Amino acid sequence: PDAPTRFEVWHQQAKLGSFAIRLLGEKNVSNATAVIALLHQLGHAPEDIARAIEEFRGAARRQQELFRDSRFRVFDDYGHHPQEIRAVLESLRRLQPGRLLVAFQPHRYTRTKHLLPEFSACFAEADQLWLAEIYAASEPAIPGISSDVLADAIRARGQSVELVPNLLHLSGLVRAGMRPGDVVLFLGAGDITQVAHALAAQLREEAPGRNDACFAELRRRLSTDALLLKDEPLARRTTMRVGGNADLFAEPASEADLSIVLQFCNERQIPFVVLGRGSNLLVRDGGIRGCVISLANPHFSQWQIVGDRITAGAGVRLKTLAVEARKHGLTGLEFIEGIPGSLGGSMRMNAGAMGSWLFDVLETIRFMDYHGNVCERAASEVHVEYRGCPLFRNHIALGAVLRGAPADAAAVRERMDGYSHKRWESQPRQPSAGCIFKNPKTIGAGRLIDELGLKGTRVGGAAVSDVHGNFIVNEGNATARDVLALIEVIRERVRAARGIDLETEVEILGEG
Ligand code: FAD
Repeated sequence: PDAPTRFEVWHQQAKLGSFAIRLLGEKNVSNATAVIALLHQLGHAPEDIARAIEEFRGAARRQQELFRDSRFRVFDDYGHHPQEIRAVLESLRRLQPGRLLVAFQPHRYTRTKHLLPEFSACFAEADQLWLAEIYAASEPAIPGISSDVLADAIRARGQSVELVPNLLHLSGLVRAGMRPGDVVLFLGAGDITQVAHALAAQLREEAPGRNDACFAELRRRLSTDALLLKDEPLARRTTMRVGGNADLFAEPASEADLSIVLQFCNERQIPFVVLGRGSNLLVRDGGIRGCVISLANPHFSQWQIVGDRITAGAGVRLKTLAVEARKHGLTGLEFIEGIPGSLGGSMRMNAGAMGSWLFDVLETIRFMDYHGNVCERAASEVHVEYRGCPLFRNHIALGAVLRGAPADAAAVRERMDGYSHKRWESQPRQPSAGCIFKNPKTIGAGRLIDELGLKGTRVGGAAVSDVHGNFIVNEGNATARDVLALIEVIRERVRAARGIDLETEVEILGEG
């Protein structure tokens, strides 16, 4: 793995602290410093800030590493301004690749025209350069401005460049030019990102042994009760029933196993993601590179009721908790009955229904950081939001203590039956991921979609439910691509008609 980028931050002539980030280059250090300054200003201790930022792995299309093995590394970056390009090339150069191969897709005719001299000089660090045609980004073409002109300007400075007029040929040309030790960078804000992903997918196909080696080593380290699978289809593990495979799928059988998986992934820089019951997830058709961790093992699915407190593991279904509370004459948990998630996934989502949130009924929470350390905290000390608990962006929920209030069992049953009836009447029966969009402040997303007449709209096997406008259902043969295309259709219509930017509530994971 790459050594982290280490730096010190000083404040008014005194050292505030030493920090490390997993990202490369001065720009990322300067971005991280802005975050550190803000958190410092808000009163956070430097050690806490250091711990919080060290695991940040960056954003999609910003120096995003799509592929890595002992031969090659492939990066995708949004850079499309000469200064950005220069900065990215310089930071990747520090990885000391055998060669740095760069494929660039200029973005907009106007930018190419106005910054031509800067563009012609910003690729100096590249050992080999391919230039795709300009991505118009809705601009009309400008006569005399094309990648040809830029290629001439680059050549005039003594650097060679290959022009690739058809993007479909780019991946093959780059692959043919690659030699072991190379770092390959795809640059641009247009559709060149798809070429980067295609090349990464091809390289994975070429190296089928890679996952086998990881699998064998992780299997050796885990307890015999832990489940470890390779190329596990995720469609059957999500309620939407779409999506590709996970490279590795681990079901640890204890907290010790879980920390072994985390340590293994950290050591090898294997990305990982936690899966609950998959009821708020949309996995793309290309599947998930890295390791999917599930807490479905019985170890994480135990619960116990003492008095008005229920202690439960992250793998327990919310429905089970609601029913058990009812059986023990406890009120307060009726609203979680129809939410088809696990306790862990629902803590991450701060799931809610009928005007209540899960965190309303949590007393203490138990979780693990990405180094395997287990902590407990009063739920009231944790910051939560509408459909989210930021703590779980980089911690794994292990369980919680929930609190009900003693009540007449018949009254609890009646309330729960009422909620359940309401749900059956207002939600579709076909596979879905629940509400697709978060509700905007001014109007419910379902009502908005209904008002715009979008119910019943279809892309492939995905349809906006006739029953509830905020549900996209899988009519049997949908792909993730269908669902994503339908999401875009809805967002565009809503933006155009009402000027509202709908944000997805479902989490979208994996590769296209
Ligand atoms: P997943 O979908 O598996 O994961 C969700 C997120 O949590 C992911 O980011 C995942 O990485 C993370 N995660 C999972 N487990 C853990 C863990 N142990 N630690 C840290 N992170 C973890 N939601 C509501 O809020 N209210 C509703 O009324 C509601 N109704 C629904 C109805 C239907 C028919 C469906 C299909 C969904 C509905 N949902 C609703 C959405 C969904 O059920 C909830 O968001 C639920 O809380 C997700 O839990 P999960 O276990 O399925 O999580």
